[in-house]
Amino acid sequence: MSTRPHELNFNQGLAEYAVVDAVSRGRRHPEPPPAYRSEFQRDRDRIIHAAAFRRLEYKTQVFVNHEGDLFRTRLTHSIEVAQIARSIARALRLNEDLTEAVALAHDLGHTPFGHAGQDALNECMKDFGGFEHNLQSLRVVDELEEKYADFPGLNLSFETREGILKHCSAKNAADLGEVGARFLNRQQPGLEAQLTNLADEIAYNSHDVDDGLRAGLIGIEQLRDIPLFNEQYEEVRRLYPELPQRRIIHEVVRRLINCQVVDLVQTSGSLLAQHAPADLESVRRHPAPLIAFSDDMRERNLELKRFLRTELYRHYRVHRMSVKALRVIRELFEAFFQDPRLLPLEAQQKVADLRRRDGDTGQARAVADYIAGMTDRYAIKEHQRVYNPGELT
Ligand code: MG
Repeated sequence: MSTRPHELNFNQGLAEYAVVDAVSRGRRHPEPPPAYRSEFQRDRDRIIHAAAFRRLEYKTQVFVNHEGDLFRTRLTHSIEVAQIARSIARALRLNEDLTEAVALAHDLGHTPFGHAGQDALNECMKDFGGFEHNLQSLRVVDELEEKYADFPGLNLSFETREGILKHCSAKNAADLGEVGARFLNRQQPGLEAQLTNLADEIAYNSHDVDDGLRAGLIGIEQLRDIPLFNEQYEEVRRLYPELPQRRIIHEVVRRLINCQVVDLVQTSGSLLAQHAPADLESVRRHPAPLIAFSDDMRERNLELKRFLRTELYRHYRVHRMSVKALRVIRELFEAFFQDPRLLPLEAQQKVADLRRRDGDTGQARAVADYIAGMTDRYAIKEHQRVYNPGELT
C-alpha cells in the first residue's frame, strides 16, 4: 500500500464483511499494488483489455449474432449483468469493483453458439476430461490470455477468480487447488461473488423475455400465465392504457429487473442484519449463502425460467440453429483433433506443447481451447475453410 497516495481510500463506506484489498488472498504471481487503483479495479481493467472480452461481442447469448442487430450478445449480456450486480453491491455496501470484474469475466469461457456449442464441445471432450464453460472462463483468465510479460493469463486476484468459478465438480475442485477448495470443504464464496451469480439470472431471465418477444418466438398472451411477468404487465397496462406494444414490453422488462433487484437487496439485507457476519471469513464459513431472493421471488423466478426453457430455448427455430451449431463444432473438433496440421501455426504450437505434457488429452484440450475461443462467425468461416473445397483456405 505504501506506493499509493494516502488520500485514496477505496474502502470508504464498505461493510465490514465486504472484500477489500487488505483481506484479499492476493495474486498467484505477486505484483506491487497499482498506484491509483484498488486491486479489484485493476482486475476489472485487465478483463476489459482482454482479447476474450472483445470476442464476446460476436458470441451467441440465445440468438446467433447474424440473426439480428438488436438481440443480446454475450458482450451486452455481460454488461447488463455488471450493471445489475453493481447496483446490488452498492446498495449492500459491498465491493462494486470486484463485483464488476466478476460480472464482466463470468462468460469469457463460453464457446461460439451459446449452450449448444458448450454441449457439443463437452461431448467431443468426453474422453478427455469434458468441457465446461464456467471452468473455461477461469482457464481464460489464468492461462489462455497472453498479454503480460511476467505471467500467463491476467493474474487476477483470488477473489475475482473465486467469483468466476461459480460451480465445480469435486474432481475438478481437487485439481484447481486453492480456488477450488470451497467446493470440497463446503464454504461460501464472498458476497460479491454470490450476488453476481444471481445478477446473471436476473439479467438473462429479463432480457430473454425481451429478445424472445422481439423474435416473435414467444407471445405476451403466453407470458401472462407467468405471475412474475403478468403482475408487471397488468400494472403497466393500468398506468399507461394507451402505450404502444413495444414500449409496454420495455416498461415491463425494466420493472421485471427492478422488482427482482429490490427483492434481492431487501432479503439479503435482512439476512445480513440477522446473521451479522463479523468479517469475510464469517461469510465464508456461514452454512448457506447470505445473498438470496425471498422464497416467493425464488419460486416465481423459477416459473419464468421453466417457461423460457420450454417455450424459447427449445423452440424449433432456436433448436434448428443449435443443431447446425452442434455439427459445426463437432466437425471442427474432429478435423483438428485427427490432423492438427490443419490448424493455423500458432494453434499447432499449442497443440504440440500440450501434447508433450498430456498426450492425447493435451492435444484434445488445446483443440477445445482453440474452438472455444472462436466467435460464431469465425467458427462458421473456419468450418467452410476446412470442409468446403470451393472455399479458399
Ligand atoms: Mg451469463
